[in-house]
Amino acid sequence: MDTALVWFRRDLRLADNPALLHALKRHQRVIPVYLHCPDEEAPWPPGAAQRVWLHHSLQALDDSLRKKGVRLIFRHGPSLSAMQRLAAETEACASYWNRLYDPALIIRDKQLEAALQQDGLNVETFNSALLQEPWEIKTKQDGPYKVYTPFARSVREVGVDPPNGMARKLPAVAKSLLSETLEDLQLLPRQAWHRNMIAHWQPGELGARQALRSFLKAGLSQYKEGRNLPAEPFVSRLSPHLHFGEIGPRQIWQAVTQAMDSSRDKASRDGGDTYLKELIWREFAYHLLFHFPHTPDSPLNDRFSQFPWLEHEDKTLSAWQHGRTGIPIVDAGMRELWQTGWMHNRVRMIVASFLTKNLLVPWQEGARWFWDTLVDADLASNTLGWQWTAGCGADAAPYFRIFNPVLQGARFDPAGDYVRQWVPELSKLPNKWIHQPWRAKKDALQEAGIQLGKDYPQPLVDLAESRQRALNAYDNLRELTAQSE
Ligand code: FAD
Repeated sequence: MDTALVWFRRDLRLADNPALLHALKRHQRVIPVYLHCPDEEAPWPPGAAQRVWLHHSLQALDDSLRKKGVRLIFRHGPSLSAMQRLAAETEACASYWNRLYDPALIIRDKQLEAALQQDGLNVETFNSALLQEPWEIKTKQDGPYKVYTPFARSVREVGVDPPNGMARKLPAVAKSLLSETLEDLQLLPRQAWHRNMIAHWQPGELGARQALRSFLKAGLSQYKEGRNLPAEPFVSRLSPHLHFGEIGPRQIWQAVTQAMDSSRDKASRDGGDTYLKELIWREFAYHLLFHFPHTPDSPLNDRFSQFPWLEHEDKTLSAWQHGRTGIPIVDAGMRELWQTGWMHNRVRMIVASFLTKNLLVPWQEGARWFWDTLVDADLASNTLGWQWTAGCGADAAPYFRIFNPVLQGARFDPAGDYVRQWVPELSKLPNKWIHQPWRAKKDALQEAGIQLGKDYPQPLVDLAESRQRALNAYDNLRELTAQSE
């Protein structure tokens, strides 16, 4: 019988899945497959938090397939030999998948496509992860964009196609076809730290749809201003769902534009418009990664490869990683990340600025920590976020823009709710001192039950001095690069 293999990767959904829909249209038998080959993703195989999410997301996909009388076939890689074996076992004549954009995976997929075609299989690949392909958006000079605003304009001019429909009926997979179990992939850690983390989430297509629905209901009209308030529930928290393709950006684009069109209130329309801009930031990240594949490790702005980072001690990095810097909003963010696998965008910028500027630790160290701890760790968006904050990427914040975490805290967490939630030892401090306990009088600290240096650390650095040190380092870099030009 005419059979196609559909290789699920980061497109773990049944709706708006072009590879799956194409297979269903063309073939009588369709075999959904997941191949476990993290080595092929080196040097960026999924981090610990991502693996936990992936486990649950695969479980959810398999459950949805089983409800339709089908099952997901799990196999270990290498991907080429696993695909060849599956094709031989099922007598498949075609293999379809949705494209990925991590540099190592683009190379791997091209090689795989060529090898399978040589074996006589029809291989076709599709876009499920982006509004437009990174090569479709071009400057007038036919090159890639390095600045967000004209890129965003171009995305809107090209326009966004509507999403595809839902795969409703799937033909059964023969009982005799062997599959490993999800547990065989060993995605979950041996120690059970992940249980508390994943309790904050519902991985899978249904969870993604619910997150979108509740955002449209409760977040959209507040989003324009509220997206900067880390204590408030006004952002969508869709990033891990998007990363694993449990929902596609075109589905979100359509839902948001429809909500804007049907809304009479300006706040929802403004919120929607701001939200679409953020979705385009994600596209911009993919555009940059595709055209500048060296950027996960090296700055896009080459001048910064000579930046005089400070020789840091392990304990400095460790204090930042574990939320023990003595700067409350930084510590709150790092603890939110540790406990939930996610951090609010405003706080990501604050902690990244603190690491790269106040502590002068290279942005790559921060990016690696995020890679291991974020459930939404995404090579494109993480690279963009770190390079933007460090001042060395495309359209980056200028290096001399150094976030003051005390002022950021006072502005975006004025009542200190966010800090109180994640740094409970400070919870009794009055608002005046919640973002700067080292300035509090002895009585205020005593009344709040805090002994600085014992219950909560003294600040790792003086904010004003470390700011000046960062500005001096930037001046040194300017002189250095001026000399070599
Ligand atoms: P919402 O505010 O609801 O935004 C909706 C969607 O738009 C997000 O899900 C995301 O896909 C996209 N988006 C929003 N802001 C950005 C942005 N600045 N860059 C790219 N896409 C954006 N995002 C990741 O998905 N993975 C990462 O690994 C990642 N690392 C980051 C590292 C740093 C240092 C910084 C400053 C930002 C990083 N971001 C990353 C971007 C951003 O912080 C998250 O996308 C956002 O916080 C996710 O929460 P949300 O879904 O509620 O966002």
